[in-house]
Amino acid sequence: MAANPNSVEARDVAYHLHSYTNARLHQEQGPLVIEKGDGIYVEDQSGKRYIEAMAGLWSVAVGFSEPRLVAAASRQMARLPYYHTFTHKAHGPVVDLAEKLVTMAPVPMSKAYFTNSGSEANDTVLKLLWYRSNAMGEPQRKKVISRHRGYHGVTIASASLTGLPNNHRSFDLPLPQVIHVGCPHYWREAQPDESEDMFATRLALELEQTILAEGPETIAAFIGEPLMGAGGVILPPKGYWEKIQAVLRKYGILLVADEVICGFGRTGQMFGSQTFAMTPDIMVFSKQLSSSYLPISAVLINDVVFEPIADESNRIGVLGHGFTGSGHPVAAAVALENINIIEERDLVAHAREVGRHLQKRLHALAGHRLTGEVRGIGLIAGIELVADRETREPWQKPGALGALVNRELQELGVISRNMADAIAFSPPLIITEGEVDIVADRLEQAMDRAASQILTPVLAASAKR
Ligand code: PMP
Repeated sequence: MAANPNSVEARDVAYHLHSYTNARLHQEQGPLVIEKGDGIYVEDQSGKRYIEAMAGLWSVAVGFSEPRLVAAASRQMARLPYYHTFTHKAHGPVVDLAEKLVTMAPVPMSKAYFTNSGSEANDTVLKLLWYRSNAMGEPQRKKVISRHRGYHGVTIASASLTGLPNNHRSFDLPLPQVIHVGCPHYWREAQPDESEDMFATRLALELEQTILAEGPETIAAFIGEPLMGAGGVILPPKGYWEKIQAVLRKYGILLVADEVICGFGRTGQMFGSQTFAMTPDIMVFSKQLSSSYLPISAVLINDVVFEPIADESNRIGVLGHGFTGSGHPVAAAVALENINIIEERDLVAHAREVGRHLQKRLHALAGHRLTGEVRGIGLIAGIELVADRETREPWQKPGALGALVNRELQELGVISRNMADAIAFSPPLIITEGEVDIVADRLEQAMDRAASQILTPVLAASAKR
């Protein structure tokens, strides 16, 4: 930790409580202070440059220094820096963005509702589902089925939808209306001798049994990320979504696609729902919607969802929901320009092509002695590390090896993120093949360094790197 009490590091420790951080450890080691960004790079206070191989938090599609987004924000700031969308008020940017999102959706959608984060969006989804069920005279239809290791946010409702223990533990969550079913991770969860197809069939059967046990009339919706991001970049087994959707259709249960990570090109198609042939009734967007230059998120609903909600708001006299920042004009203007850039530069096709290279380079590490599984599609990938490839045992405790490799990688100038022992990659969509090569080379170096520390812990301790 820096000795100077006026340093950013010292003041950060003194005054700032961090998200997703061990607060005690932070007091010892302090922050990494990032000062600026340029393309796929960010730079810390000491001038060290890093490839931001996570695009921040799966976010910065167009890179860190896009002048068109700065210009769009400043134009809108000067014209109308703020207005709201309550009580029949509208402004150009929010209408333009709503129209854009509804018309570009891969399945018929009716309306866009705006929020400021993925969590708020999913919170809103749950509330709209409850409101709709009441509107339809089905007050018992309030449960939502989600998946273990799914990630949908951290507010009370969205953290409940999330299926990760650290988002529930000590927070008294999840809410009783949320039911979690199995995680579609073939490598980790399949039984011996089970094919991908058999695994997907078993998960669909589990879903059906859950629906029947709870009572189909009590289930409002099923929510899922097309591929799981924060749970460790988990791609569903072949046939999974087809089988899951068949069950949902059979019982008249709505599908919510949480596209917060997948949306706007990440998987090599504009939306994850296209990559995995999903037909959602509700879609949730954030992150690459605005490249996270400003906070904004959106919930798209089709007419099946909208019509009863409209009737209920008419019966009550108002839809009693809304945020001060819903459809913020500056965020909306930035999102629109961001989508324009993605379309004009065909960053979706770029993500598909460069993504192939990323997957190829990471798959070349499949034989490394620390590699358990390599997985991904487009410009999103994960490499799961194990201490023992036979038994798939972790090193020391789950997450320790992932953290070690992640630290080594950061020292080598690549910022990634470890979800337990899975190292994730989700770089800006503008990354080139040459830059992917640098990331992959440094990952291999980081894995080699970690392997040597695991093999020779005494030597490694004395080296004190
Ligand atoms: N859904 C998904 C799929 C996400 O990945 C995230 C964030 N990682 C969220 C929702 C929550 O978004 P936010 O952090 O903006 O609340």
